[in-house]
Amino acid sequence: MAQTTPNHTQTVSGWAAHDSSGKITPFTFKRRENGVDDVSIEVLYCGMCHTDLHHVRNDWGITMYPVVPGHEITGLITKVGSNVTRFKIGDRVGVGCLAASCLDCEFCKDSLENYCDQIQFTYNGIFWDGSITYGGYSKMLVADQRYVVHVPKNLPMDAAAPLLCAGVTVYCPMKDNGMLQSPGKKLGVVGLGGLGHVAVKFGKAFGLHVTVISTSPSKEHEAKERLGADDFIISTDIKQMQAGKRTLDFIIDTVSAKHSLGPLLELLKVNGTLVIVGAPDKPMDLPSFPLIFGKRAVKGSMTGGMRETQEMMDVCGEHNITCDIEVVNPDQINGALDRLARNDVRYRFVIDIAGKSSNL
Ligand code: NAP
Ligand code: ZN
Repeated sequence: MAQTTPNHTQTVSGWAAHDSSGKITPFTFKRRENGVDDVSIEVLYCGMCHTDLHHVRNDWGITMYPVVPGHEITGLITKVGSNVTRFKIGDRVGVGCLAASCLDCEFCKDSLENYCDQIQFTYNGIFWDGSITYGGYSKMLVADQRYVVHVPKNLPMDAAAPLLCAGVTVYCPMKDNGMLQSPGKKLGVVGLGGLGHVAVKFGKAFGLHVTVISTSPSKEHEAKERLGADDFIISTDIKQMQAGKRTLDFIIDTVSAKHSLGPLLELLKVNGTLVIVGAPDKPMDLPSFPLIFGKRAVKGSMTGGMRETQEMMDVCGEHNITCDIEVVNPDQINGALDRLARNDVRYRFVIDIAGKSSNL
């Protein structure tokens, strides 16, 4: 569907999927003029989140094609609207999952825009002017300043890009549930992918004992040596799971596919909390016994609000936390998506949109 909104006058090159085959091809489209509250951004890098894969393949049945994915965006400000005070031309900035929200509800007023019930996302959303939003697999973005954050100077723009979704999506539930304020407590991270590997880094930065719970024995060495994980449990190994019973205070579950929560809940101590951030397309099994016997809680969490997103970026700047990435060119997007689907990435693909492969 072509954009028909009258003020969408800027022609932009990007990459889109056109049907549920998920194949990405070059795509030219229109973006809105830079409004008074907007900034224009030259996109440098865009991370490839598993959510992009869910969307291009229509796993969740909600994709509006053509879809230009991408919500882990870093770039440089090229234009600012007359109301913009927080940014100037040349600033290094990031854009994550959020494009618009009502600005009036209790959540927006508290900068928890991510829980506004009128939230619109950076791609596959419907903006207030009726246009479908297109994401960061594109050369240029126009964004309302509210949904833009500064990237600390010491963070490289490529390895910082996935923080805009993967980073904030694990940071917020960790903070909400007291994990970042509890050094020495035991955290389990289920699924060592894009989200999971950043959760391990936050856990270690805040003094937690971190156990990775994974289906991939091949990730153990790196998880411990490179990411600093303290323990590694293979979730398909019944003996290891048995030995891990009642050892963890918290679990973050980042798994992208359907799985049972029962064996994971058994790993929690009494009163432990499991937070789901992974978004499988099918309901997960939630047996009652491990909940009841351990007085355990299961919660969800969706990305982060804008104040928290800036806070998370600043925390990453202070602790020098970046993502472990494989940089690809735009013509390698399809191959990268296939590898992401096969769980073959350490730990995030980032597209070099501007072709700079630079030290920016
Ligand atoms: P990812 O890089 O593909 O990582 C997912 C990890 O899950 C894999 O590395 C793998 O880890 C594990 N896994 C995959 N298939 C599995 C299976 N069948 N059984 C058990 N484990 C499996 O994905 P991601 O980008 O981190 O995203 C993860 C999920 O979070 C996606 O569903 C995504 O849509 C969702 N998400 C949610 C939010 C939110 O706001 N809540 C934000 C971003 C993403 P091991 O090899 O270690 O087992
Ligand atoms: Zn994402």
